[in-house]
Amino acid sequence: MVEKNESGEVWVYAETQDGELQELSIELCGKGRELADKLGVKIGAVLIGDGVEGVAPKLFERGIDNVYLVEDKQLGYFRSSPYCHVVVNLIKKYRPQIVLYGASNLGRDLAPRVASATQSGLTADCTNLDVSDITEKSGVVHKNLLLQIRPAFGGNIVATIVNYDKWPQMATVREGVFTLPKADPTRNGKIIRETYLNNDEKNETEKLLGLNAVEVIKREIQKRKVNLKNARVIVAGGAGVGSKENFELLFELANLFGGAVGASRAAVDSGFINAERQIGQTGSTVRPAIYIACGISGMVQHRVGMENSAKIIAINSDSAAPIFSIAHYGIVGDLKQVIPLMLKAFKERN
Ligand SMILES: Cc1cc2nc3c(=O)[nH]c(=O)nc-3n(C[C@H](O)[C@H](O)[C@H](O)COP(=O)(O)OP(=O)(O)OC[C@H]3O[C@@H](n4cnc5c(N)ncnc54)[C@H](O)[C@@H]3O)c2cc1C
Repeated sequence: MVEKNESGEVWVYAETQDGELQELSIELCGKGRELADKLGVKIGAVLIGDGVEGVAPKLFERGIDNVYLVEDKQLGYFRSSPYCHVVVNLIKKYRPQIVLYGASNLGRDLAPRVASATQSGLTADCTNLDVSDITEKSGVVHKNLLLQIRPAFGGNIVATIVNYDKWPQMATVREGVFTLPKADPTRNGKIIRETYLNNDEKNETEKLLGLNAVEVIKREIQKRKVNLKNARVIVAGGAGVGSKENFELLFELANLFGGAVGASRAAVDSGFINAERQIGQTGSTVRPAIYIACGISGMVQHRVGMENSAKIIAINSDSAAPIFSIAHYGIVGDLKQVIPLMLKAFKERN
């Protein structure tokens, strides 16, 4: 257990890949900075790896005050036990009040291990965060609580989860839900260096924690083929598209705008399109300039992944479909007729 520390910093876990700071971590820097400012505390970043010191200035320019840097040959690749050991030691020593991780493969592996080792608890896959004091009915005031907001009960409600007792308060956050903070190259900060294992610890701790139980022989990174996150226009299809062949219409429309094609889970489950295009609670979170939802009913699990799009256009044959309640423009009709008309109109204009 880690003792409560109301003046503790807000921390973000700074994830790197081949020496590059990941965008998801930069998103966390922005939100973390906002939370730290509300609490009147500093924001720190945990940076672990081999030869990653060069990433520290990138963190400073995105709003970080202190970088907790742990470098070692053995930390060159992410391995659960050694990384967990490092983060737990840092938390015990510096007692941050909040620690945020990206809900990436790494974050989803690391954060629960750290939560278990520090007995602190964790809310996974948050879609928003805030801080506030909360007063119980009995009058007891809980200060500096992290409001961890995420869909719950199969996505049917959006729950705010707080942790009164066990600190640090920890959450993983979904990619794309926070905007990137502006880089300020004039900002600077402090690097606090810590060692991975001190000499006394080396043999005993390694054995005890099985730190070297996994050896990385070779690493191959599969590049994402679909980049929904950076698309300015997304044409997304749902069960109403009806077939793989009909999805070609959506590809044609997306191509006209230089955009990307997304999908609802029902479309993916029906085998109309690949799972990497799924948008929503268990897919990607996107916020394009224009989101065209075709044959998508607008269930909450889909909405949480796209409702922050700047302009939403919905095409649906059912005028009562819930998607129309969040759409800026709605077209009631059969998408097999509407999309060809749109294609024709756009082609004639250009
Ligand atoms: C834990 C959990 C996680 C989930 N995660 C996700 C997620 O990440 N993403 C996601 O999308 N869903 C997710 N879902 C599923 C979600 O609840 C819905 O089932 C799904 O979003 C419905 O997809 P849909 O709108 O394409 O299909 P439907 O709800 O079946 O809607 C089809 C729509 O198409 C319209 N339509 C039919 N024919 C036409 C036509 N010819 N022209 C125009 N419109 C037409 C209909 O009127 C209807 O509104 C999740 C569910 C659970 C329980």
